[in-house]
Amino acid sequence: MAETTNSPNNSGERTSRNFLEEIMDNDLQSGRHTSVLTRFPPEPNGYLHIGHAKSITVNFGLALKYGGATNLRFDDTNPVTEETEYVESIRNDVRWLGYTWKDEFYASDYFEQLFGFALKLIRDGLAYVDDSTSEEIAAMKGTPTRPGTDSPYRSRSPQENEDLFRSMRAGEFPDGSRTLRARIDMSSPNMLMRDPIIYRIKHAHHHRTGDQWCIYPTYDFAHGQSDAIENITHSICTLEFMSHRELYNWFIEKLGLFPSRQYEFARLNLSYTIMSKRKLLQLVNEKYVDGWDDPRMPTISGLRRRGYTPKSIREFCSRIGVAKRDNLIDVSLLEFCAREDLNKISQRRMVVFDPVKVVITNWPEGTVEELESENNPEDSNGGNRIVPMSREIFIERDDFMEDAPKKYFRLSPGKSVRLKSAYIITCEDFQKDEHGTITEIHCTYHPDSRSGSDTSGIKAKGTLHWVSASHAVNVEVRDYDRLFRVENPAEEEGDFLDYVNPDSLRVIPVALAEPALLEDARNATDSDDRLHYQFLRKGYYYADLSSTAEKLIFNQTVGLRDTWAKINK
Ligand code: ATP
Ligand code: MG
Repeated sequence: MAETTNSPNNSGERTSRNFLEEIMDNDLQSGRHTSVLTRFPPEPNGYLHIGHAKSITVNFGLALKYGGATNLRFDDTNPVTEETEYVESIRNDVRWLGYTWKDEFYASDYFEQLFGFALKLIRDGLAYVDDSTSEEIAAMKGTPTRPGTDSPYRSRSPQENEDLFRSMRAGEFPDGSRTLRARIDMSSPNMLMRDPIIYRIKHAHHHRTGDQWCIYPTYDFAHGQSDAIENITHSICTLEFMSHRELYNWFIEKLGLFPSRQYEFARLNLSYTIMSKRKLLQLVNEKYVDGWDDPRMPTISGLRRRGYTPKSIREFCSRIGVAKRDNLIDVSLLEFCAREDLNKISQRRMVVFDPVKVVITNWPEGTVEELESENNPEDSNGGNRIVPMSREIFIERDDFMEDAPKKYFRLSPGKSVRLKSAYIITCEDFQKDEHGTITEIHCTYHPDSRSGSDTSGIKAKGTLHWVSASHAVNVEVRDYDRLFRVENPAEEEGDFLDYVNPDSLRVIPVALAEPALLEDARNATDSDDRLHYQFLRKGYYYADLSSTAEKLIFNQTVGLRDTWAKINK
Protein backbone atom coordinates (compact mmCIF):
# COMPACT_ATOMS: atom_id res chain seq x y z
CA MET A 1 0.00 0.00 0.00
CA ALA A 2 2.74 2.47 0.93
CA GLU A 3 5.45 3.27 -1.54
CA THR A 4 8.77 2.65 0.11
CA THR A 5 12.21 1.73 -1.06
CA ASN A 6 14.97 -0.03 0.74
CA SER A 7 18.35 1.54 0.53
CA PRO A 8 21.36 1.74 2.80
CA ASN A 9 21.71 4.82 4.97
CA ASN A 10 24.99 6.39 6.05
CA SER A 11 25.82 3.73 8.58
CA GLY A 12 25.14 1.01 6.03
CA GLU A 13 21.97 -0.42 7.62
CA ARG A 14 18.96 -0.89 5.44
CA THR A 15 16.13 1.44 6.26
CA SER A 16 12.78 1.81 4.67
CA ARG A 17 12.05 5.24 3.26
CA ASN A 18 8.96 6.51 1.57
CA PHE A 19 9.27 8.46 -1.68
CA LEU A 20 8.99 11.81 0.10
CA GLU A 21 11.82 10.92 2.46
CA GLU A 22 13.88 9.92 -0.51
CA ILE A 23 13.27 13.30 -2.14
CA MET A 24 14.20 15.16 1.05
CA ASP A 25 17.32 13.09 1.55
CA ASN A 26 18.39 13.84 -2.01
CA ASP A 27 17.63 17.55 -1.72
CA LEU A 28 19.64 17.86 1.46
CA GLN A 29 22.53 15.82 0.12
CA SER A 30 22.71 17.66 -3.19
CA GLY A 31 22.56 21.01 -1.40
CA ARG A 32 19.37 22.04 -3.21
CA HIS A 33 18.11 22.87 0.26
CA THR A 34 19.94 23.17 3.56
CA SER A 35 16.86 22.57 5.68
CA VAL A 36 13.29 21.38 5.32
CA LEU A 37 10.29 23.69 5.67
CA THR A 38 6.84 22.26 5.00
CA ARG A 39 3.39 23.75 5.45
CA PHE A 40 -0.09 22.53 6.24
CA PRO A 41 -2.48 24.69 4.19
CA PRO A 42 -6.12 24.12 5.15
CA GLU A 43 -8.89 26.16 3.64
CA PRO A 44 -10.91 27.36 6.65
CA ASN A 45 -14.24 26.26 5.18
CA GLY A 46 -14.99 23.39 7.57
CA TYR A 47 -13.59 21.25 10.35
CA LEU A 48 -10.59 19.03 9.73
CA HIS A 49 -11.17 15.33 9.11
CA ILE A 50 -9.05 12.23 9.42
CA GLY A 51 -7.78 12.84 5.85
CA HIS A 52 -6.32 16.12 7.02
CA ALA A 53 -4.78 14.27 9.96
CA LYS A 54 -2.93 12.24 7.35
CA SER A 55 -1.68 15.40 5.67
CA ILE A 56 -0.72 16.90 9.05
CA THR A 57 1.28 13.86 10.12
CA VAL A 58 3.05 13.76 6.75
CA ASN A 59 3.96 17.46 6.76
CA PHE A 60 4.85 17.81 10.43
CA GLY A 61 6.29 14.30 10.65
CA LEU A 62 8.72 14.80 7.76
CA ALA A 63 9.82 18.20 9.03
CA LEU A 64 10.48 16.74 12.49
CA LYS A 65 12.39 13.84 11.00
CA TYR A 66 14.68 16.20 9.06
CA GLY A 67 15.09 18.73 11.85
CA GLY A 68 13.00 21.26 9.96
CA ALA A 69 9.73 23.01 10.67
CA THR A 70 6.17 23.39 9.45
CA ASN A 71 4.03 26.46 8.93
CA LEU A 72 0.31 26.56 9.41
CA ARG A 73 -1.17 28.50 6.54
CA PHE A 74 -4.85 29.24 6.19
CA ASP A 75 -5.63 29.14 2.53
CA ASP A 76 -8.29 31.81 2.73
CA THR A 77 -8.46 33.11 -0.81
CA ASN A 78 -12.16 32.38 -1.22
CA PRO A 79 -14.03 35.01 0.79
CA VAL A 80 -17.42 33.35 0.52
CA THR A 81 -16.96 30.07 2.36
CA GLU A 82 -14.53 30.96 5.10
CA GLU A 83 -15.25 31.57 8.73
CA THR A 84 -13.32 32.40 11.85
CA GLU A 85 -14.95 29.50 13.73
CA TYR A 86 -13.18 27.13 11.35
CA VAL A 87 -9.83 28.82 11.91
CA GLU A 88 -10.15 28.25 15.66
CA SER A 89 -11.15 24.62 15.27
CA ILE A 90 -8.26 23.93 12.88
CA ARG A 91 -5.70 25.39 15.27
CA ASN A 92 -7.15 23.40 18.09
CA ASP A 93 -7.13 20.14 16.12
CA VAL A 94 -3.52 20.48 14.96
CA ARG A 95 -2.40 21.19 18.52
CA TRP A 96 -4.43 18.30 19.88
CA LEU A 97 -2.78 15.96 17.39
CA GLY A 98 0.47 16.92 19.09
CA TYR A 99 2.08 19.31 16.63
CA THR A 100 3.44 22.82 17.00
CA TRP A 101 3.76 25.02 13.96
CA LYS A 102 6.56 27.48 13.36
CA ASP A 103 4.66 30.42 11.88
CA GLU A 104 1.00 30.98 11.34
CA PHE A 105 0.11 32.68 8.10
CA TYR A 106 -2.91 33.46 5.99
CA ALA A 107 -2.84 33.48 2.21
CA SER A 108 -4.81 36.71 2.59
CA ASP A 109 -1.69 38.21 4.25
CA TYR A 110 -0.15 38.05 0.79
CA PHE A 111 -2.93 39.75 -1.19
CA GLU A 112 -0.84 42.88 -1.73
CA GLN A 113 2.23 40.87 -2.72
CA LEU A 114 0.19 38.68 -5.02
CA PHE A 115 -1.25 41.77 -6.65
CA GLY A 116 2.32 42.92 -7.25
CA PHE A 117 3.21 39.53 -8.79
CA ALA A 118 0.23 39.86 -11.12
CA LEU A 119 1.42 43.32 -12.18
CA LYS A 120 4.84 41.89 -12.95
CA LEU A 121 3.31 39.24 -15.19
CA ILE A 122 1.23 41.91 -16.92
CA ARG A 123 4.27 44.12 -17.52
CA ASP A 124 6.21 41.15 -18.85
CA GLY A 125 3.40 40.42 -21.30
CA LEU A 126 2.49 37.24 -19.43
CA ALA A 127 -1.00 38.14 -18.22
CA TYR A 128 -4.00 39.93 -19.67
CA VAL A 129 -7.43 41.15 -18.67
CA ASP A 130 -10.15 39.21 -20.43
CA ASP A 131 -13.65 40.67 -20.87
CA SER A 132 -15.09 37.34 -21.99
CA THR A 133 -17.81 35.71 -19.93
CA SER A 134 -17.04 32.44 -18.17
CA GLU A 135 -19.09 30.61 -20.84
CA GLU A 136 -17.06 32.19 -23.62
CA ILE A 137 -13.82 31.33 -21.85
CA ALA A 138 -14.97 27.74 -21.45
CA ALA A 139 -15.95 27.54 -25.11
CA MET A 140 -12.53 28.81 -26.22
CA LYS A 141 -10.67 26.34 -23.99
CA GLY A 142 -10.79 23.50 -26.53
CA THR A 143 -10.60 19.88 -25.44
CA PRO A 144 -7.67 17.70 -24.43
CA THR A 145 -7.40 16.59 -28.08
CA ARG A 146 -8.32 19.90 -29.74
CA PRO A 147 -6.36 23.09 -29.10
CA GLY A 148 -8.13 26.11 -27.70
CA THR A 149 -8.61 29.42 -29.48
CA ASP A 150 -7.16 32.75 -28.43
CA SER A 151 -9.38 35.18 -26.63
CA PRO A 152 -9.96 38.42 -28.61
CA TYR A 153 -8.44 40.23 -25.59
CA ARG A 154 -5.25 38.19 -25.54
CA SER A 155 -3.18 40.76 -27.40
CA ARG A 156 -3.99 43.78 -25.25
CA SER A 157 -0.94 45.90 -24.49
CA PRO A 158 0.72 45.65 -21.07
CA GLN A 159 -0.28 49.25 -20.35
CA GLU A 160 -3.93 48.67 -21.19
CA ASN A 161 -3.90 45.49 -19.08
CA GLU A 162 -2.36 47.26 -16.13
CA ASP A 163 -4.93 50.06 -16.29
CA LEU A 164 -7.79 47.60 -16.50
CA PHE A 165 -6.41 45.44 -13.71
CA ARG A 166 -6.08 48.46 -11.46
CA SER A 167 -9.65 49.42 -12.29
CA MET A 168 -10.74 45.90 -11.40
CA ARG A 169 -9.09 46.35 -8.04
CA ALA A 170 -10.68 49.77 -7.60
CA GLY A 171 -14.11 48.18 -7.84
CA GLU A 172 -15.09 49.72 -11.16
CA PHE A 173 -16.52 46.51 -12.64
CA PRO A 174 -19.25 44.13 -11.51
CA ASP A 175 -18.66 40.51 -10.48
CA GLY A 176 -17.85 38.18 -13.32
CA SER A 177 -17.40 40.93 -15.93
CA ARG A 178 -13.65 40.52 -16.31
CA THR A 179 -10.85 38.21 -15.25
CA LEU A 180 -7.10 38.31 -15.25
CA ARG A 181 -5.57 35.38 -17.12
CA ALA A 182 -2.01 34.15 -17.40
CA ARG A 183 -0.82 34.20 -21.01
CA ILE A 184 0.69 30.77 -21.46
CA ASP A 185 -0.27 28.33 -24.21
CA MET A 186 -3.75 27.79 -25.64
CA SER A 187 -2.69 24.52 -27.23
CA SER A 188 -0.96 22.95 -24.24
CA PRO A 189 -1.92 19.31 -23.66
CA ASN A 190 -2.36 20.35 -20.03
CA MET A 191 -5.69 22.15 -19.98
CA LEU A 192 -4.63 24.13 -16.90
CA MET A 193 -1.88 25.78 -18.96
CA ARG A 194 -4.39 27.19 -21.45
CA ASP A 195 -4.36 30.72 -20.10
CA PRO A 196 -5.69 29.95 -16.62
CA ILE A 197 -7.69 32.56 -14.73
CA ILE A 198 -5.62 34.04 -11.93
CA TYR A 199 -7.91 36.79 -10.60
CA ARG A 200 -11.69 37.08 -10.34
CA ILE A 201 -13.89 39.98 -9.41
CA LYS A 202 -15.90 39.17 -6.29
CA HIS A 203 -17.50 41.95 -4.28
CA ALA A 204 -17.57 39.89 -1.11
CA HIS A 205 -16.66 40.47 2.51
CA HIS A 206 -13.55 38.55 3.59
CA HIS A 207 -13.18 37.20 7.14
CA ARG A 208 -9.86 39.00 7.57
CA THR A 209 -9.44 41.66 4.93
CA GLY A 210 -13.03 42.85 5.20
CA ASP A 211 -14.06 44.93 2.20
CA GLN A 212 -10.53 45.93 1.27
CA TRP A 213 -10.51 43.73 -1.83
CA CYS A 214 -13.01 42.99 -4.54
CA ILE A 215 -10.65 40.91 -6.66
CA TYR A 216 -9.38 37.59 -5.36
CA PRO A 217 -6.57 35.34 -6.64
CA THR A 218 -7.40 31.79 -7.67
CA TYR A 219 -5.96 28.79 -5.85
CA ASP A 220 -3.29 28.29 -8.50
CA PHE A 221 -2.06 31.84 -8.34
CA ALA A 222 -2.09 32.01 -4.56
CA HIS A 223 -0.81 28.65 -3.45
CA GLY A 224 2.60 28.30 -5.05
CA GLN A 225 3.42 31.99 -4.55
CA SER A 226 2.51 31.71 -0.86
CA ASP A 227 4.82 28.71 -0.64
CA ALA A 228 7.61 30.69 -2.27
CA ILE A 229 7.08 33.76 -0.07
CA GLU A 230 7.48 31.55 3.00
CA ASN A 231 10.48 29.68 1.53
CA ILE A 232 8.65 26.37 1.73
CA THR A 233 11.02 23.72 0.43
CA HIS A 234 8.57 20.85 -0.08
CA SER A 235 4.93 21.64 -0.76
CA ILE A 236 3.16 18.35 -0.20
CA CYS A 237 -0.38 17.95 -1.46
CA THR A 238 -2.72 15.28 -2.74
CA LEU A 239 -2.81 13.63 -6.16
CA GLU A 240 -5.59 15.73 -7.64
CA PHE A 241 -3.08 18.59 -7.83
CA MET A 242 -0.70 16.64 -10.04
CA SER A 243 -1.76 18.49 -13.20
CA HIS A 244 -1.35 21.82 -11.37
CA ARG A 245 2.36 21.22 -10.86
CA GLU A 246 3.34 22.54 -14.29
CA LEU A 247 1.50 25.77 -13.58
CA TYR A 248 2.95 25.96 -10.06
CA ASN A 249 6.45 25.80 -11.57
CA TRP A 250 5.62 28.25 -14.37
CA PHE A 251 4.61 31.02 -11.96
CA ILE A 252 7.65 30.48 -9.75
CA GLU A 253 9.96 30.56 -12.74
CA LYS A 254 8.39 33.57 -14.44
CA LEU A 255 8.28 35.54 -11.20
CA GLY A 256 11.79 34.45 -10.20
CA LEU A 257 10.74 33.31 -6.72
CA PHE A 258 12.15 30.91 -4.15
CA PRO A 259 12.15 27.47 -5.80
CA SER A 260 9.44 25.70 -3.81
CA ARG A 261 8.43 22.40 -5.35
CA GLN A 262 5.17 20.51 -5.20
CA TYR A 263 4.92 16.76 -4.44
CA GLU A 264 1.76 14.70 -4.45
CA PHE A 265 0.60 11.67 -2.48
CA ALA A 266 -2.70 9.79 -2.40
CA ARG A 267 -5.60 11.15 -0.36
CA LEU A 268 -6.75 9.07 2.51
CA ASN A 269 -10.14 7.50 1.88
CA LEU A 270 -11.69 5.57 4.73
CA SER A 271 -14.41 2.94 4.42
CA TYR A 272 -17.99 3.61 5.59
CA THR A 273 -17.49 7.35 5.71
CA ILE A 274 -16.83 10.37 3.53
CA MET A 275 -13.90 12.78 3.42
CA SER A 276 -15.20 15.95 1.90
CA LYS A 277 -15.80 19.03 4.00
CA ARG A 278 -18.61 20.06 1.70
CA LYS A 279 -20.44 16.78 2.25
CA LEU A 280 -19.70 16.74 5.96
CA LEU A 281 -21.21 20.22 6.15
CA GLN A 282 -24.32 18.84 4.48
CA LEU A 283 -24.60 16.14 7.15
CA VAL A 284 -24.38 18.87 9.79
CA ASN A 285 -26.79 21.32 8.14
CA GLU A 286 -29.37 18.68 7.34
CA LYS A 287 -29.15 17.31 10.88
CA TYR A 288 -28.07 13.80 10.05
CA VAL A 289 -25.57 14.33 12.85
CA ASP A 290 -25.38 16.48 15.90
CA GLY A 291 -22.73 18.92 14.63
CA TRP A 292 -19.18 18.78 13.27
CA ASP A 293 -18.01 17.05 16.44
CA ASP A 294 -20.69 14.38 16.50
CA PRO A 295 -18.85 11.23 17.59
CA ARG A 296 -19.90 9.49 14.35
CA MET A 297 -18.19 12.09 12.19
CA PRO A 298 -14.75 11.38 10.68
CA THR A 299 -13.68 14.83 11.84
CA ILE A 300 -10.81 15.19 14.27
CA SER A 301 -13.18 16.88 16.72
CA GLY A 302 -15.66 14.01 16.33
CA LEU A 303 -12.97 11.41 16.91
CA ARG A 304 -11.72 13.35 19.93
CA ARG A 305 -15.22 13.58 21.40
CA ARG A 306 -15.68 9.89 20.84
CA GLY A 307 -12.52 9.07 22.78
CA TYR A 308 -9.87 8.49 20.15
CA THR A 309 -6.43 9.51 21.36
CA PRO A 310 -4.01 11.64 19.34
CA LYS A 311 -1.52 8.82 19.61
CA SER A 312 -3.88 6.30 18.04
CA ILE A 313 -4.58 8.65 15.13
CA ARG A 314 -0.88 9.31 14.57
CA GLU A 315 -0.21 5.58 14.69
CA PHE A 316 -2.97 4.96 12.14
CA CYS A 317 -1.50 7.57 9.79
CA SER A 318 1.93 6.08 10.17
CA ARG A 319 0.71 2.55 9.45
CA ILE A 320 -1.03 3.50 6.22
CA GLY A 321 2.12 5.23 4.98
CA VAL A 322 2.31 7.50 1.94
CA ALA A 323 0.91 6.00 -1.22
CA LYS A 324 1.06 7.26 -4.79
CA ARG A 325 -2.19 5.63 -5.86
CA ASP A 326 -5.64 6.25 -4.44
CA ASN A 327 -7.06 3.52 -2.27
CA LEU A 328 -9.70 2.89 0.36
CA ILE A 329 -8.43 2.15 3.84
CA ASP A 330 -10.54 -0.11 6.02
CA VAL A 331 -11.84 1.76 9.06
CA SER A 332 -11.15 -1.34 11.15
CA LEU A 333 -7.45 -0.39 10.96
CA LEU A 334 -8.24 2.90 12.67
CA GLU A 335 -10.24 1.03 15.29
CA PHE A 336 -7.41 -1.42 15.79
CA CYS A 337 -5.02 1.48 16.49
CA ALA A 338 -7.51 2.93 18.98
CA ARG A 339 -7.86 -0.37 20.85
CA GLU A 340 -4.13 -0.83 20.98
CA ASP A 341 -3.60 2.49 22.72
CA LEU A 342 -6.75 2.42 24.86
CA ASN A 343 -5.97 -1.04 26.20
CA LYS A 344 -2.82 0.42 27.76
CA ILE A 345 -4.31 3.56 29.24
CA SER A 346 -7.94 2.79 30.09
CA GLN A 347 -9.35 2.52 33.58
CA ARG A 348 -11.40 -0.65 33.98
CA ARG A 349 -14.91 -0.19 35.29
CA MET A 350 -18.06 -2.32 35.50
CA VAL A 351 -21.27 -1.06 33.94
CA VAL A 352 -24.43 -3.12 33.47
CA PHE A 353 -26.44 -2.05 30.41
CA ASP A 354 -29.55 -4.22 30.75
CA PRO A 355 -29.81 -5.15 34.40
CA VAL A 356 -31.49 -8.06 36.14
CA LYS A 357 -31.38 -8.32 39.92
CA VAL A 358 -29.50 -11.07 41.74
CA VAL A 359 -30.16 -11.63 45.48
CA ILE A 360 -27.36 -13.38 47.32
CA THR A 361 -29.42 -15.22 49.86
CA ASN A 362 -26.61 -16.16 52.27
CA TRP A 363 -25.10 -12.63 52.32
CA PRO A 364 -25.83 -11.06 55.72
CA GLU A 365 -28.49 -8.31 55.38
CA GLY A 366 -27.19 -4.79 55.64
CA THR A 367 -23.49 -5.58 55.25
CA VAL A 368 -21.25 -4.11 52.60
CA GLU A 369 -17.84 -5.44 51.72
CA GLU A 370 -15.32 -3.15 50.06
CA LEU A 371 -13.47 -5.21 47.51
CA GLU A 372 -10.46 -3.97 45.63
CA SER A 373 -9.96 -4.18 41.93
CA GLU A 374 -7.13 -3.11 39.67
CA ASN A 375 -7.72 0.05 37.71
CA ASN A 376 -5.69 -1.24 34.82
CA PRO A 377 -3.99 -4.63 34.69
CA GLU A 378 -1.82 -3.30 31.82
CA ASP A 379 -0.35 -0.61 34.04
CA SER A 380 1.54 -1.71 37.16
CA ASN A 381 1.28 1.82 38.57
CA GLY A 382 -2.43 2.07 37.86
CA GLY A 383 -3.51 1.43 41.46
CA ASN A 384 -6.72 -0.11 42.75
CA ARG A 385 -10.25 1.08 43.25
CA ILE A 386 -12.89 0.08 45.78
CA VAL A 387 -15.80 -1.98 44.48
CA PRO A 388 -18.55 -2.34 47.08
CA MET A 389 -20.53 -5.56 47.26
CA SER A 390 -23.82 -6.13 49.06
CA ARG A 391 -26.68 -8.62 49.24
CA GLU A 392 -28.38 -7.38 46.06
CA ILE A 393 -26.48 -6.89 42.84
CA PHE A 394 -27.25 -6.45 39.13
CA ILE A 395 -25.87 -8.49 36.27
CA GLU A 396 -26.65 -8.30 32.53
CA ARG A 397 -29.93 -9.88 31.60
CA ASP A 398 -28.28 -11.90 28.85
CA ASP A 399 -25.75 -13.32 31.30
CA PHE A 400 -28.51 -15.56 32.62
CA MET A 401 -30.33 -18.41 30.86
CA GLU A 402 -33.11 -20.52 32.24
CA ASP A 403 -32.39 -23.49 29.97
CA ALA A 404 -28.75 -23.17 29.08
CA PRO A 405 -26.94 -25.29 26.49
CA LYS A 406 -23.93 -27.25 27.65
CA LYS A 407 -21.31 -24.75 26.55
CA TYR A 408 -22.99 -21.79 28.22
CA PHE A 409 -20.53 -20.61 30.86
CA ARG A 410 -22.57 -17.79 32.28
CA LEU A 411 -25.26 -18.07 34.94
CA SER A 412 -28.06 -20.67 34.84
CA PRO A 413 -29.85 -22.76 37.48
CA GLY A 414 -27.39 -24.94 39.40
CA LYS A 415 -24.34 -23.36 37.69
CA SER A 416 -21.58 -21.24 39.22
CA VAL A 417 -19.85 -18.13 37.90
CA ARG A 418 -17.29 -15.75 39.26
CA LEU A 419 -18.26 -12.15 39.88
CA LYS A 420 -15.29 -10.09 38.66
CA SER A 421 -12.93 -9.16 41.55
CA ALA A 422 -15.37 -10.73 44.01
CA TYR A 423 -16.82 -14.16 44.80
CA ILE A 424 -18.10 -17.23 43.05
CA ILE A 425 -21.89 -17.47 43.18
CA THR A 426 -24.15 -20.44 42.43
CA CYS A 427 -27.65 -20.02 41.06
CA GLU A 428 -30.27 -21.66 43.23
CA ASP A 429 -33.52 -20.30 41.90
CA PHE A 430 -35.20 -17.49 39.95
CA GLN A 431 -38.53 -15.68 39.52
CA LYS A 432 -40.48 -14.71 36.41
CA ASP A 433 -43.42 -12.41 35.83
CA GLU A 434 -46.57 -13.30 33.88
CA HIS A 435 -44.81 -12.46 30.57
CA GLY A 436 -42.03 -14.89 31.29
CA THR A 437 -39.48 -12.13 31.97
CA ILE A 438 -36.94 -12.97 34.66
CA THR A 439 -37.44 -10.58 37.56
CA GLU A 440 -35.03 -11.88 40.18
CA ILE A 441 -32.34 -14.51 40.45
CA HIS A 442 -31.40 -16.14 43.74
CA CYS A 443 -27.84 -17.24 44.33
CA THR A 444 -25.59 -18.23 47.17
CA TYR A 445 -22.00 -17.05 47.37
CA HIS A 446 -18.96 -18.96 48.55
CA PRO A 447 -17.21 -16.92 51.25
CA ASP A 448 -13.88 -18.71 50.70
CA SER A 449 -13.79 -17.94 46.95
CA ARG A 450 -12.77 -14.30 47.07
CA SER A 451 -10.62 -13.22 44.11
CA GLY A 452 -6.98 -13.30 45.06
CA SER A 453 -7.54 -15.61 48.05
CA ASP A 454 -9.74 -18.35 46.62
CA THR A 455 -9.48 -21.59 48.61
CA SER A 456 -12.92 -22.89 47.67
CA GLY A 457 -11.80 -25.34 45.03
CA ILE A 458 -14.95 -24.52 43.04
CA LYS A 459 -14.56 -24.27 39.30
CA ALA A 460 -16.33 -21.38 37.63
CA LYS A 461 -15.68 -21.05 33.92
CA GLY A 462 -17.38 -17.72 33.35
CA THR A 463 -16.62 -14.33 34.92
CA LEU A 464 -19.36 -11.72 34.94
CA HIS A 465 -19.32 -7.97 35.48
CA TRP A 466 -21.81 -6.71 38.04
CA VAL A 467 -22.72 -3.77 40.27
CA SER A 468 -24.02 -3.55 43.82
CA ALA A 469 -27.69 -2.52 43.66
CA SER A 470 -27.59 0.02 46.45
CA HIS A 471 -24.34 1.60 45.20
CA ALA A 472 -25.07 1.68 41.48
CA VAL A 473 -24.95 4.99 39.64
CA ASN A 474 -27.17 5.76 36.66
CA VAL A 475 -25.30 6.74 33.53
CA GLU A 476 -26.29 7.16 29.89
CA VAL A 477 -24.38 5.16 27.31
CA ARG A 478 -24.19 5.91 23.60
CA ASP A 479 -23.07 3.16 21.27
CA TYR A 480 -22.23 3.87 17.65
CA ASP A 481 -22.29 2.02 14.40
CA ARG A 482 -20.94 3.05 10.98
CA LEU A 483 -22.29 6.36 9.73
CA PHE A 484 -22.92 4.84 6.27
CA ARG A 485 -24.35 1.50 5.24
CA VAL A 486 -21.98 1.05 2.31
CA GLU A 487 -18.22 0.83 2.11
CA ASN A 488 -17.67 3.76 -0.21
CA PRO A 489 -20.67 6.11 -0.15
CA ALA A 490 -18.91 8.70 -2.33
CA GLU A 491 -18.72 6.16 -5.17
CA GLU A 492 -22.31 4.92 -5.01
CA GLU A 493 -24.95 5.94 -7.51
CA GLY A 494 -27.21 8.82 -6.59
CA ASP A 495 -27.09 10.93 -3.48
CA PHE A 496 -24.60 9.95 -0.78
CA LEU A 497 -27.25 10.88 1.80
CA ASP A 498 -29.32 7.88 0.70
CA TYR A 499 -26.65 5.67 2.19
CA VAL A 500 -26.61 7.11 5.70
CA ASN A 501 -27.07 4.33 8.25
CA PRO A 502 -30.29 5.12 10.14
CA ASP A 503 -29.16 3.01 13.11
CA SER A 504 -25.75 4.56 13.70
CA LEU A 505 -26.64 5.69 17.23
CA ARG A 506 -28.00 3.49 19.99
CA VAL A 507 -28.73 5.20 23.29
CA ILE A 508 -28.97 3.28 26.54
CA PRO A 509 -30.59 5.94 28.71
CA VAL A 510 -30.00 4.18 32.02
CA ALA A 511 -27.08 1.87 32.52
CA LEU A 512 -25.89 1.00 36.03
CA ALA A 513 -22.29 1.77 36.84
CA GLU A 514 -20.12 0.98 39.82
CA PRO A 515 -19.71 4.05 42.05
CA ALA A 516 -16.04 4.61 41.17
CA LEU A 517 -17.25 6.00 37.86
CA LEU A 518 -19.08 8.81 39.65
CA GLU A 519 -15.94 9.77 41.53
CA ASP A 520 -14.42 10.38 38.14
CA ALA A 521 -17.22 12.79 37.24
CA ARG A 522 -14.81 15.68 37.66
CA ASN A 523 -13.26 14.36 34.48
CA ALA A 524 -16.46 14.77 32.57
CA THR A 525 -15.75 18.36 31.68
CA ASP A 526 -14.78 19.84 28.38
CA SER A 527 -11.12 19.11 28.74
CA ASP A 528 -9.04 16.73 26.72
CA ASP A 529 -7.44 15.04 29.70
CA ARG A 530 -10.52 13.11 30.72
CA LEU A 531 -9.91 9.49 31.60
CA HIS A 532 -10.53 6.74 29.11
CA TYR A 533 -12.41 3.69 30.32
CA GLN A 534 -12.82 0.12 29.44
CA PHE A 535 -16.26 -1.02 30.52
CA LEU A 536 -15.55 -4.67 31.16
CA ARG A 537 -16.81 -7.01 28.44
CA LYS A 538 -18.34 -4.01 26.62
CA GLY A 539 -15.82 -1.74 25.02
CA TYR A 540 -13.87 1.48 25.42
CA TYR A 541 -15.78 4.54 26.59
CA TYR A 542 -15.15 8.24 27.06
CA ALA A 543 -17.29 10.78 28.91
CA ASP A 544 -19.16 13.01 26.49
CA LEU A 545 -18.38 16.68 26.85
CA SER A 546 -22.04 17.38 27.59
CA SER A 547 -21.81 15.29 30.80
CA THR A 548 -22.44 16.93 34.14
CA ALA A 549 -21.78 15.64 37.63
CA GLU A 550 -25.50 14.81 37.85
CA LYS A 551 -25.73 13.13 34.48
CA LEU A 552 -22.81 11.25 33.08
CA ILE A 553 -22.94 10.34 29.42
CA PHE A 554 -20.44 7.95 27.88
CA ASN A 555 -19.60 7.52 24.20
CA GLN A 556 -18.37 4.21 22.96
CA THR A 557 -15.03 4.83 21.32
CA VAL A 558 -14.67 1.33 19.96
CA GLY A 559 -15.77 -2.17 20.89
CA LEU A 560 -13.42 -4.65 22.49
CA ARG A 561 -12.91 -6.58 19.30
CA ASP A 562 -13.97 -6.45 15.73
CA THR A 563 -17.38 -8.06 16.05
CA TRP A 564 -18.83 -5.83 13.36
CA ALA A 565 -17.31 -7.57 10.38
CA LYS A 566 -18.48 -10.95 11.64
CA ILE A 567 -22.08 -9.93 12.28
CA ASN A 568 -22.42 -8.23 8.92
CA LYS A 569 -20.88 -10.97 6.78
P1 ATP B 1 -12.02 18.64 1.32
O1 ATP B 1 -12.32 18.17 -0.06
O2 ATP B 1 -12.35 17.67 2.38
O3 ATP B 1 -12.57 20.01 1.59
P2 ATP B 1 -9.55 19.84 0.73
O4 ATP B 1 -8.43 19.17 0.04
O5 ATP B 1 -10.33 20.85 -0.03
O6 ATP B 1 -10.46 18.73 1.37
P3 ATP B 1 -8.00 21.63 2.29
O7 ATP B 1 -8.41 22.38 3.49
O8 ATP B 1 -7.78 22.39 1.04
O9 ATP B 1 -9.06 20.49 2.06
O10 ATP B 1 -6.76 20.71 2.61
C1 ATP B 1 -5.63 21.03 3.38
C2 ATP B 1 -4.59 19.99 3.09
O11 ATP B 1 -5.06 18.70 3.48
C3 ATP B 1 -4.29 19.92 1.60
O12 ATP B 1 -2.89 19.83 1.43
C4 ATP B 1 -4.98 18.66 1.16
O13 ATP B 1 -4.31 18.08 0.06
C5 ATP B 1 -4.91 17.79 2.42
N1 ATP B 1 -6.00 16.82 2.44
C6 ATP B 1 -7.32 17.06 2.35
N2 ATP B 1 -8.02 15.92 2.34
C7 ATP B 1 -7.12 14.91 2.46
C8 ATP B 1 -7.21 13.48 2.52
N3 ATP B 1 -8.38 12.86 2.46
N4 ATP B 1 -6.07 12.78 2.64
C9 ATP B 1 -4.89 13.40 2.71
N5 ATP B 1 -4.73 14.73 2.65
C10 ATP B 1 -5.82 15.49 2.53
MG1 MG C 1 -10.34 22.65 -0.71
